[in-house]
Amino acid sequence: MENKFGKIKAVLFDLDGTLYLDGVIIGNADKTLDILRKKGVKIVFLTNNSSCTDDEYGKKLARLNLYKQGDFICSSLTVAAEVMKEDKKVGKIYPLATGEVTRYLLKKGYNIANKGEEYTADTVLLTFDKELSYDKIVIANRLIAGGARYIATHPDKVCPAKYCSIPDAGSFIALFKESNGRDPDIIIGKPYPYMAEYVAQKLSTDNEYMLMVGDRLYTDMAFGINAGLKTALVLSGETTFNDYEKSGIKVDAVIKSVDELAEYF
Ligand SMILES: [Mg+2]
Repeated sequence: MENKFGKIKAVLFDLDGTLYLDGVIIGNADKTLDILRKKGVKIVFLTNNSSCTDDEYGKKLARLNLYKQGDFICSSLTVAAEVMKEDKKVGKIYPLATGEVTRYLLKKGYNIANKGEEYTADTVLLTFDKELSYDKIVIANRLIAGGARYIATHPDKVCPAKYCSIPDAGSFIALFKESNGRDPDIIIGKPYPYMAEYVAQKLSTDNEYMLMVGDRLYTDMAFGINAGLKTALVLSGETTFNDYEKSGIKVDAVIKSVDELAEYF
């Protein structure tokens, strides 16, 4: 396995269940990242979680000794913002988003529906809104039912948490599907390929020189395979080896945790 990933220029890491769990880093993930950096590999932190901005992620990852200068952070929120820029159907946005994320979108120059003029929006952006309220659900539902452009940052139904998984954007998508029959027009995050295209473009590399490392088969590994990346499944999070064998999905490497990754470079 020595040098199996020797040609890899960038490693895209999932966060929860791959680099940390409940805010505690897994094994010696920080030291493994240092080994890869020394070999000239670009470290990319890739998350579907759109409940906060990349700046906030940078601070959190730096506190865990994972983020170092020169690393790259990419969330489904960043890429959604890029995709919306190119989308001619996106005019005024009604975001299902935290205040922090809404401020980020305003700073990026997006036209956000002000309070009182929500029904003039032509687009609903559904993110992992940890400040979701019934009023917001009612407004978004009416807009979606009325034919608004409907963009979701990611499809994850739940997010890992200490006592019990918490409802994530995919659960909100299911709520609107039940309520008005529509699915999003676009979903940005893993397993869809938008984030891979974005990272490859930003790092001026090709998908075949990128490796996706993650703990979920149907998001992380499916994303890597869909986008033509190399793939490494870690068993430190959601997936057991038995799940992997039963899935029929074929990845390039199965490892206990990221600590084993250095052996492949
Ligand atoms: Mg994960």
